[in-house]
Amino acid sequence: MAKPEPVDSKTCPFCPGNEGMTPPAEAVYTDRGVLADGSERVRNWRARVFPNLFAAMVPKPTPPTTEWIALPGHGFHEVIVDSPEHGIGPADFSRDQLELILEVYRDRYSHYRRKHGVSYISIFKNWGDAAGASMSHTHSQIIAIPIVPPLIKRETTVLSSASFCIYCNIAERETSSSRLITSNDSWILIAPFYSIAPYETWILPKGHISDLKAMDEHQRRDLGQILGDALRRLKSLLDDPPFNYMIFQQPFGYHLNIRIQPALTKIAGFERSTGVYINPVPPEQAASELRMA
Ligand SMILES: [Zn+2]
Ligand SMILES: [Zn+2]
Repeated sequence: MAKPEPVDSKTCPFCPGNEGMTPPAEAVYTDRGVLADGSERVRNWRARVFPNLFAAMVPKPTPPTTEWIALPGHGFHEVIVDSPEHGIGPADFSRDQLELILEVYRDRYSHYRRKHGVSYISIFKNWGDAAGASMSHTHSQIIAIPIVPPLIKRETTVLSSASFCIYCNIAERETSSSRLITSNDSWILIAPFYSIAPYETWILPKGHISDLKAMDEHQRRDLGQILGDALRRLKSLLDDPPFNYMIFQQPFGYHLNIRIQPALTKIAGFERSTGVYINPVPPEQAASELRMA
């Protein structure tokens, strides 16, 4: 199975000691609090957030060509180095570290929510070559964009046409279904009925919260627990597979959810030409195997 190429920690820009190889960090999480890089880089950190050198979105984009109608690539793109340790994976994080990462996600989300011109914030992790990780040192990314993306818009239209919250309904029904993998006080981990990838899982809050900002401390600790649990089950069952996890959230009227999709099959002609995904592993089977992992 494809794993990220090991890069020497001496030359890895995400490793402690090499902070000067990245743009100055806007937020550095340390035991002394959340700091920011000045002329000197902050050392002894637990997580670092800085602008992506190869940004997909930038605050001051060049205007698009006049030949076609296009939006400028206005937005923000940050890298979150979510552990100082080179060579460990997200499934190896301590619960403390996972809780910290969730705090970072929540803080950056709150920061960009307030920015003029930001309509949607995507927070995700690519783990492994096949899932699109270009750096082997574990990291997450955040991209803030000026539009609500089509996928989200379509989902929101369906959600708002119902007289009840569809996600609350899913969370309640799946608590006693064959697709439940595990749960704690605040969250459930399921193989969703609508899995588009083999061994896809979703983490859903049991109560209705729209985004990470609405999460209380108890829910954050519980989320750290269940996210770690989900990642360890995947690693153990599928030999550290490449995967993407993605946080779906919106400030109003939405039900926060986190989707973990292992990249075990190729997205090819059929999927690209139809938007329809062939998943050879039924979610009930995935849930059963992940329960035992
Ligand atoms: Zn590194
Ligand atoms: Zn809900």
